[in-house]
Amino acid sequence: MDRRAEITQYYKELDRAYFMEFYKEQAHKDTPFPIGYGQTISQPSLVLEMTILLDLKRESRVLEIGTGSGYQTALLAKAVERVYTVERVEELYLKAKERLNQAGYTNIEFKLADAKLGWPEKGPFDRIMVTAAPPILPQPLLDQLANGGKMVIPVGEGYGQDLLLVTKDYKGRIRQGVVAKVSFVPLRDS
Ligand code: SAH
Repeated sequence: MDRRAEITQYYKELDRAYFMEFYKEQAHKDTPFPIGYGQTISQPSLVLEMTILLDLKRESRVLEIGTGSGYQTALLAKAVERVYTVERVEELYLKAKERLNQAGYTNIEFKLADAKLGWPEKGPFDRIMVTAAPPILPQPLLDQLANGGKMVIPVGEGYGQDLLLVTKDYKGRIRQGVVAKVSFVPLRDS
């Protein structure tokens, strides 16, 4: 099975309702839903596309910015050996941690912090998945991306942002390209 098919399979195995607080009966709909604290669980088809775009290898060390419900975290954790996820809202951090631990995931490390700063002690990361939008690319995240690494990140102000695929080559050179127009909640300033 190729990697795309494999990740699609993991995605199908996930019960999205498990990660939702409200509207559980509508979990099958391909739209974002509120999870409290002004935050949302992302649109599932976008979670899948972004995960495929990240080009995960089984051995990739992945940093996720914005744990939220933990839904994207779960998909990443099925696909790779180790996931590091950072969330700034304590209630969401605690709930996601409990949910994922209860579901049996043992390869996720959680941190309560402002994720704009990444997770320097655990970097560099082979892959970085950002699920809240900063106005510009945060330098700490670029610094924590390993050579040969890839980052998927929505960047921009207001409701519409550019989804960027950022790559760092083996010499440390950064390239970025716009892959889609998206609408994420803002990556907040602490
Ligand atoms: N992947 C999540 C999406 C959650 S929405 C899901 O599918 O459920 C984005 C999340 O980013 C929110 O939980 C929000 O609280 C968090 N966030 C916003 N700004 C942040 C920051 N500066 N540091 C860490 N997390 C942040």
